Amino acid sequence: MVETYILRIGHRHDRDQRVTTHVGLTGRALGAKGMYLAADDPGVVESIAGVAKRFGGSFTIQDKVSWKQCINNFKESGGRIVHLTMYGLRIQDVIGEIRACEKVLVIVGAEKVPGEVYGLADYNIAVTNQPHSEIAGLAVFLDQLYQGRELDAEFSDAEISVLPCERGKETVER
Ligand code: SAM
Repeated sequence: MVETYILRIGHRHDRDQRVTTHVGLTGRALGAKGMYLAADDPGVVESIAGVAKRFGGSFTIQDKVSWKQCINNFKESGGRIVHLTMYGLRIQDVIGEIRACEKVLVIVGAEKVPGEVYGLADYNIAVTNQPHSEIAGLAVFLDQLYQGRELDAEFSDAEISVLPCERGKETVER
């Protein structure tokens, strides 16, 4: 199964903390292995790492990366680059090809994405050609990629596990 990492670019310290944190949490919950953040924001790192520690699994988070170096390193290690953008090709037309990759780096922007990213990406992919959000785009991308199988993922070594229940909240703490 294709391994997915996220690269978050354009993060602004005061404006984007909540959305960037949700990009990481959504990625983790829906099957991504880790996130690279092209910004210096220890608060976001702590928040995502804290959830990963309590709720299990092995999601990694690293900030202060250079986005260009991250893309080049990922390519050199044999990975393919997917850039989520409303201007890209229709996800439904290319997701089959991406599913055959060994590992992919999914780039999501915040403010305007540098034009160079469009050229460095192997795939510029649109989740509809309408403007919306990086969190929604990432969630639909991962669900299309994993075809719903990500919903059955187990999170190992969790300190807290939620027990599905019809009403109320049930958890097990270890
Ligand atoms: N205005 C910015 C630009 O033109 O680059 C994008 C801002 S948008 C709120 C932030 C991010 O959401 C984008 O960089 C892209 O990754 C993602 N996004 C928004 N709409 C999308 C769509 N229809 N398909 C895929 N990704 C989308």
